[in-house]
Amino acid sequence: MRNRDDDPPIITLSAGPVDAYPAVLRALSRPVTYDFDPSFQHFYESTVLKTAEALRTARPPVILMGEPVLGLEAAAAALIHADDVVLNLASGEYGKGFGFWAARHCRELVEIEVAYDDAIDPQSVGDMLKARPEIRVLSVCHHDTPSGTVNPVAEIGAICRAHDVLTIVDAVSSFGGMDVHPEQIHADIFVTGPNKCLGGSTGLSILHVSERAWDRIDANPAAPTDSVLSLVDWRDAWRRDVLFPYTPSVSEVHALEAAVQNYLDEGPESVWARHALTARACRAGVRAMGLDLWPAREAICADTATTVRVPAGLEDAAIRQEARRRYGVVFSAGRGTLLGKLVRIGHMGPTARPIYAVVAVTALGGAVAALGGKADVAAGVEAALAVIDGAGT
Ligand SMILES: *Cc1c(COP(=O)(O)O)cnc(C)c1O
Repeated sequence: MRNRDDDPPIITLSAGPVDAYPAVLRALSRPVTYDFDPSFQHFYESTVLKTAEALRTARPPVILMGEPVLGLEAAAAALIHADDVVLNLASGEYGKGFGFWAARHCRELVEIEVAYDDAIDPQSVGDMLKARPEIRVLSVCHHDTPSGTVNPVAEIGAICRAHDVLTIVDAVSSFGGMDVHPEQIHADIFVTGPNKCLGGSTGLSILHVSERAWDRIDANPAAPTDSVLSLVDWRDAWRRDVLFPYTPSVSEVHALEAAVQNYLDEGPESVWARHALTARACRAGVRAMGLDLWPAREAICADTATTVRVPAGLEDAAIRQEARRRYGVVFSAGRGTLLGKLVRIGHMGPTARPIYAVVAVTALGGAVAALGGKADVAAGVEAALAVIDGAGT
């Protein structure tokens, strides 16, 4: 039995967007309400306040009507002043990519770049801020998804706070799956979205903006207004008695509410725990099969995706194709400069269940072996199960 390319996948283990929770799919099927109907305005306010609760802050986040790349670009445009020096931390494709947006708005972009299987050393950030005291804004990606590595954003945030530097943090593929919250890490703008660890749909950006960041945005004559890129336009839209600047994506807002409610009802600590356990089982299985993890050290591996080096002599596209055709299991490809070097197993939201680690190891190992590579699938499955069983339920 083979899965044809035009058959739908059987199990999607992508690193985002992810298969949404059933409650999210049901929410997407609700009638599209007129946005200025009082029932929707109430619903919008309560959705934003619920999202603030999930973010563990009293400040209502800004919701922008496009997937989180919009939020990241909007954050750069609003916060960065034309005469700013910005420090961008690049330990992967997303971190590096943010620098291209930042560079459009600032006087000078300074970067600390490390190999894309490594993470930023907070000490290097402290040293740079001492050497270049004119740096005003720092940008960093928490989980650089194409690498499967995480940066120590809490330490970096504390250093920035001590130097009075504002931070923009991309937490798109970690918030909701790991213990990371804007105020805990001193983030001034914290960008996330519903379509990764929250198991939501793909159309919104969620931005926490600190009071200091609002002050700086208000003082920035170049901060966009009357624009889809504008944080300012949407700042007060969460209030039921304030009119929307433009039409919100009604169905996406329904889906966001379902995703956030799901997360709060299950209990954030439980949600993070199943992400972490799935990741540990995945890593143990990959190693026991004789394959190599992409990150340089286990300590910097994300809980929300596991990245595996493509074995010598094989091609990543062939491995992913074989896993899909043979077993109906979908993995993510590498991205940018990492395309072809690794295969990514996502365990975010609904697929952050330990048994999917067994599925991932089996399908990945099975595909590698079928292509003539070396993978001890039985040893991999055994190691993954040992982690799951050892941890109890
Ligand atoms: C998914 C993701 C985004 C959103 O961007 P897309 O590439 O359009 O999905 C931004 N940052 C990170 C770290 C992500 O994982």
